[in-house]
Amino acid sequence: MAEKLVWGRAWHGRSYDLGRMTLPDLWRAYLTYPAINLYALFAVLSGGAALSLAKRWQDIALPILAVCLVYPFVWYGLHRYVLHGRWLYRMKWTAGLWKRIHFDHHQDPHLLEVLFGSPLNTIPTMLIITGPIGYAIGGWAGGTAAFATALVTTCVYEFFHCIQHLNYKPKSQFIQKLKRDHLLHHFHSEKINMGIVSFTPDYIFHSYVPTAKECPKSPTVFNLGYDVEEAKRYPWVMEITGTPPRDKPPSGLEREAAAAEAV
Ligand SMILES: [Zn+2]
Ligand SMILES: [Zn+2]
Ligand SMILES: [Zn+2]
Repeated sequence: MAEKLVWGRAWHGRSYDLGRMTLPDLWRAYLTYPAINLYALFAVLSGGAALSLAKRWQDIALPILAVCLVYPFVWYGLHRYVLHGRWLYRMKWTAGLWKRIHFDHHQDPHLLEVLFGSPLNTIPTMLIITGPIGYAIGGWAGGTAAFATALVTTCVYEFFHCIQHLNYKPKSQFIQKLKRDHLLHHFHSEKINMGIVSFTPDYIFHSYVPTAKECPKSPTVFNLGYDVEEAKRYPWVMEITGTPPRDKPPSGLEREAAAAEAV
């Protein structure tokens, strides 16, 4: 009961701004965030099913390994061609989805509610992609192990993504670098650095850029190409938002934008 009250207080009608939060604030928001709780619940159920179904350790271990290897590449493909594709906002019935899954995050990278994916989109995607991979390797034990791995990996990705937008400097050099790389994707060019935790696909497909100097600044880094002209032709995203698309960082983020540029 007490827990439910805290959960309710944390998430009813509250908006979180990562620019004004500390690391302990973030942990509190993250651990009580409904989508994260749901992923954890499904991961426990699916992982438990895998353990009870497995006949050999390989049925579980190999799917876990496969998902860890495949995940960064699937994320890369989705981020580059679906989230940054220009086709979802051009159709009325997918415009709202595109706005929710990525446009809103680039318009205001500090808003926690739109930084996190919606479980209605993320859970089916994970199930459809990783379930069959696991099933092919280890039957039902493999399928459930793979799904559980995708859920856990998503929790890790979401946390690192929060850290990348949280107004603080990580102690670890590795995390500092991840943060810098991702901020270039937000403040310099949306065509580079598609990764969150792993930039290996960016290296392989030549979209990794370590500093702002090595790549021209993109004029569409905040609106993803959905500018006022596009909004006249394809009005649905603008209609849902209620305001024209922004092509500058929201106020308060100028400093962060300058810091990303200075690298
Ligand atoms: Zn981001
Ligand atoms: Zn930020
Ligand atoms: Zn993006």
